[in-house]
Amino acid sequence: MEKLLNELSSQSGFAYDIKCDVEADFSIPENLKRKSDLGLPGIAENDLLRHFTNLSRKNYALSTVFYPLGSCTMKYNPLINERIAKYDAFNSIHPCQPAETMQGILEIMHGLEKDLCEISGMDNFSLQPAAGAHGEFTGLLIIAAHFRSIKQKRTKIIVPDSAHGTNPASAAFAGFEIVPLKSEPDGSIDVSKLKEVLTNEVAAIMLTVPNTLGVFESKMREIAKAVHENGSLLYYDGANLNALMGFARPGDLGFDVMHINLHKTFSTPHGGGGPGSGPVGVKSFLERFLPVPRVEKKNKKYVLNYKKTKSIGAVKSFFGNFPVILRAYAYIKALGGNGLKNASAQAVLNANYMLAKFKDKINVPAGTRCMHEFVLSPKAALGGGVRTLDVAKRLLDYGYYAPTVYFPLIVEEAVMIEPTETESKETLDKFIETLNKIILEESVNEPQKVKDAPSNTPVTRLNEVEAARNPILKWKNR
Ligand SMILES: *Cc1c(COP(=O)(O)O)cnc(C)c1O
Repeated sequence: MEKLLNELSSQSGFAYDIKCDVEADFSIPENLKRKSDLGLPGIAENDLLRHFTNLSRKNYALSTVFYPLGSCTMKYNPLINERIAKYDAFNSIHPCQPAETMQGILEIMHGLEKDLCEISGMDNFSLQPAAGAHGEFTGLLIIAAHFRSIKQKRTKIIVPDSAHGTNPASAAFAGFEIVPLKSEPDGSIDVSKLKEVLTNEVAAIMLTVPNTLGVFESKMREIAKAVHENGSLLYYDGANLNALMGFARPGDLGFDVMHINLHKTFSTPHGGGGPGSGPVGVKSFLERFLPVPRVEKKNKKYVLNYKKTKSIGAVKSFFGNFPVILRAYAYIKALGGNGLKNASAQAVLNANYMLAKFKDKINVPAGTRCMHEFVLSPKAALGGGVRTLDVAKRLLDYGYYAPTVYFPLIVEEAVMIEPTETESKETLDKFIETLNKIILEESVNEPQKVKDAPSNTPVTRLNEVEAARNPILKWKNR
């Protein structure tokens, strides 16, 4: 295990001297002055460099291993976009500058809003929300504002039980009551079951298309018709947009409000809670409710409009997570319409290739075709009391990041795999071979080995309950 800086500390070398370069023209009272040494670790520059480099090599990252994390679209993020996001020309701008001095970034934001409209079939976008869940929350506030404005009391949101946990959470946070809807074994919606819960108190239904089992909602038009005839709206969870670009647009499918996870579909490294962006798109009848400021073009100049009286207000400081916006814009412009369409086609092809290799050996509850991801239920194939959690841990021993497990909740022992368009056939083949080996051979022949995994990672199997209840946070207690 890598030692902490404090443990490595010696007095023989300091990488840098810390000196205060502010001239004190005030005197600090004696009783407030430090009596003892500050106790900073002393460490030579080379040892410091090695410490952090060695730590970084213990990380799982897209740049070191295959990351088949279903629902999260962990695809290659072109490094050129990182370079662009770091340009001084963007980073030295202050959001409080007058709009006429930041025409460039306003043009980029305006341009990205337009591109997202074209990709999604919506009429207007706000780039302000900071993540998918934040986009859901913003969208739901817009839906609430809409019904207030037409003086209808609608307090309920329908959420299928295959949905991501953020959907019911966002709806509750926005003050709605959740109406759960039982979905079919492939995660899709039964229109007659939907009609049973579609009362005049329902403000909207939240849908993920393709759904979290990787299946396209084939009854989409019927669903949209039933919901709209009831006077309710349709919210689109855009986390799975990577399956649809250039093939189908949520706006054309009947959705009124949606978010896009820029960090999933449009090239921002994510995971570990890094900054994201969840732009919200609406049909034109909801435009006036979007967060302020709005970026508008007037007489060939870009302006920031804060004076939208019907707006739900700002949901984040200033303009949102601008570096993520910038990467998305660069990515979309680099790929172009055909490139985005190819990305989706390849993502769907890769997922179907993997599914075809698994389907005769491991149960696939949603059937034998999928969009960009699929969910295995290995319960019947596993031996020796081995569970999906053990399989996920064992994959770490083989140098893979584990797929999403136990989601969606409607699949027993779920393993959710999303290969994305950016992995080679060789990588997919090796992963398929390894997962089959763990499930079909190791769990039967050497179950204990799988249950004890991982055994060759820097940290071996953790007692997750103990780790959460009694975290060791002080280096001295280690
Ligand atoms: C990731 C995800 C979300 C939430 O998005 P965040 O950007 O993580 O807040 C919502 N729904 C689905 C289906 C997702 O995969």
